[in-house]
Amino acid sequence: EEQYKNSERRATELEALKAALEEKARELEESSNYKTEFLSNMSHELRTPLNSLLILSQMLTENKEGNLTPDQIEYVKTIFSSGNELLTLINDILDLSKIEAGKVTIHPEVLRLADMMDYLKEFFAPVARQKELDFIIEIDEDLPDTAHVDEYRLLQILKNLLSNAFKFTERGSISLKVRRAEDQVIENNDVFKESEWVLAFSVTDTGIGIPKFKQSMVFEAFQQANGTTSRKYGGTGLGLTISQKLANLLGGFIDIDSVEGKGSTFTLYLPGKEVSDSSCEEIAASA
Ligand code: ADP
Repeated sequence: EEQYKNSERRATELEALKAALEEKARELEESSNYKTEFLSNMSHELRTPLNSLLILSQMLTENKEGNLTPDQIEYVKTIFSSGNELLTLINDILDLSKIEAGKVTIHPEVLRLADMMDYLKEFFAPVARQKELDFIIEIDEDLPDTAHVDEYRLLQILKNLLSNAFKFTERGSISLKVRRAEDQVIENNDVFKESEWVLAFSVTDTGIGIPKFKQSMVFEAFQQANGTTSRKYGGTGLGLTISQKLANLLGGFIDIDSVEGKGSTFTLYLPGKEVSDSSCEEIAASA
């Protein structure tokens, strides 16, 4: 009898504990939603006045009335570029908080790799020209034409890696090479082992490089490999954090290989799924 009562009491206690835990989980979920909502409202509120500041200061830099002194033009240029930095920071924080709150959903679609590479070639052509850097893009011949990935997020990651490459390189070249991942990478990863084939996108630069001991740090939020260079180059220190988290969401990851003073290679590995041309057309037709 005693034993029965005890176990009954314990069962009631466990029930109460379970209810309390569920309540706590609900509260946490609510406060996390609240945080994301707050950040999203906040960034909207911040973006609106910032946009007028950007538009007006940009108009001033043109000095249409011709009554600004060279010094004053420099001041408004600084207002414009600082405003732009602030906008990037706001967008990055919002992006990161959405990823962390699990609010970013992945939408895989059929994508022609060559089209994406052409787009990137054109997108970065002006900065390549301006910095007099060679920009090389190569797609391995043994790759299928199409992949099944979230195009928007893949572009976001590649643009991030390429912007960094251009930012931290003063001479030489930047390349983006797409190939099948090496067997060794696939064998060490459960998701990759399940995938029909795995893509590797390598962005290589001949820039300043990153010292070995700082290489893992660059994926952490707000970390910059070198305080002096970051002041020189600007940036939020969130780009690689966001890119790595997005890569994880896409089922892959970003790897780094860099030699200080020589250059860096950032490689994005992603599970790709071979899609035949006919099903590609079917999907296009049904869209
Ligand atoms: P941000 O570039 O905005 O500072 P990131 O998260 O993109 O932030 O990069 C973090 C840091 O990693 C950079 O500040 C820089 O120190 C280092 N880094 C990233 N990419 C490169 C690169 N291609 N060459 C040298 N350093 C790099």
